[in-house]
Amino acid sequence: MTRALSQTSRPLQALVDLAAMTHNLAQARARAGERPIWAVVKANAYGHGIENAVRAFAAADGLALLETDEAQRARAAGWRKPILLLEGVFASRDFALVNELDLTVVVHSMEQIEMLERLPAAAPVAIFLKIDTGMNRLGFPAALVPAARARIAALPHVRVAALMTHLANADREHGPAPTVQEQHAALQALVPDWRGAWSVSNSAALFLHPSRGAESVRPGITLYGASPAPGVSAASLGLQAAMRLQARVLAVRDLAPGQCVGYGSLWTAARPSRIGVVACGYADGYPRATPEGMPVWAGGRRVPLVGRVSMDMLTIDLSGVEGVEVGSPVELWGRNIAVDELAERVGTVGYELLSALPARVREEVACD
Ligand SMILES: *Cc1c(COP(=O)(O)O)cnc(C)c1O
Repeated sequence: MTRALSQTSRPLQALVDLAAMTHNLAQARARAGERPIWAVVKANAYGHGIENAVRAFAAADGLALLETDEAQRARAAGWRKPILLLEGVFASRDFALVNELDLTVVVHSMEQIEMLERLPAAAPVAIFLKIDTGMNRLGFPAALVPAARARIAALPHVRVAALMTHLANADREHGPAPTVQEQHAALQALVPDWRGAWSVSNSAALFLHPSRGAESVRPGITLYGASPAPGVSAASLGLQAAMRLQARVLAVRDLAPGQCVGYGSLWTAARPSRIGVVACGYADGYPRATPEGMPVWAGGRRVPLVGRVSMDMLTIDLSGVEGVEVGSPVELWGRNIAVDELAERVGTVGYELLSALPARVREEVACD
């Protein structure tokens, strides 16, 4: 449990399967070989809870995340190995926590170098220097790399633990430029003299592209059992869904032909129908844009969504489905309904659905 113990009995939980997370890390390990693995746990471990990640990813070499709050939670949960701040510090005052929590920081801008220059020399800090090799988001562009390295080399309290870049198109085999190969080549060309560690691969690079020497890897999404790439199922990569979003049936309605369900009366019963009202809506992270027919898992089978998803509820067609009553569990996503299947139907990715899980959905460690 990562949030204050809730008293609510509203039947909706994100059940987190620690064994699946550990299994997925082992899948990453099988591909990474000897390379160090930084398990990416930003956005509350993609919705699974930092504390759960600390337990499940004990075999990782480090954790990578975004905010000092999350680093603090990881340390409080007992994580003793390195922690990387993926965007570095946002303000000079963050260095107090960097020091106290012994964090490694990404340095991606001259502004961050200026903050390092103003630090008292007594405070040693390990950095990942981030170089932009074509994503054009964070990192030093080619022209600034020599100046950035020279300024950092002049700081005796700063140790460059690795050179890092981020890949724009690792999720596609023949994607647009820059390709994985082009970004690797650009990195080598910019720092031909570098003999230290590298950090390049995200999940898609680790799972879909061949091994890349001695670099450390930064998988995120795959550790939670979702796909890093369109058209590639998580199951085909040997991954297991780590979250089951589970609600229960709040009410059952028998409709006569011609009766409608929900806002806008979008769905009309063509024949005598049984409708289940499920305690999950768009305020719980289930997209309002979900089209009719999207399956949920109830009574041991796929059951279609009908009508419009509302804020707190959605409706399913239980006609002909045995054994689903008020109180029966319904899986919105999990082992039976891949989060990627729902994501694809609404034009997004599993990343968004998992990481945007709202606070009102309780995470609980699954016991089965
Ligand atoms: C989020 C993130 C990752 C992990 O990406 P996945 O696609 O989830 O594996 C790796 N590196 C950086 C810099 C990130 O921000």
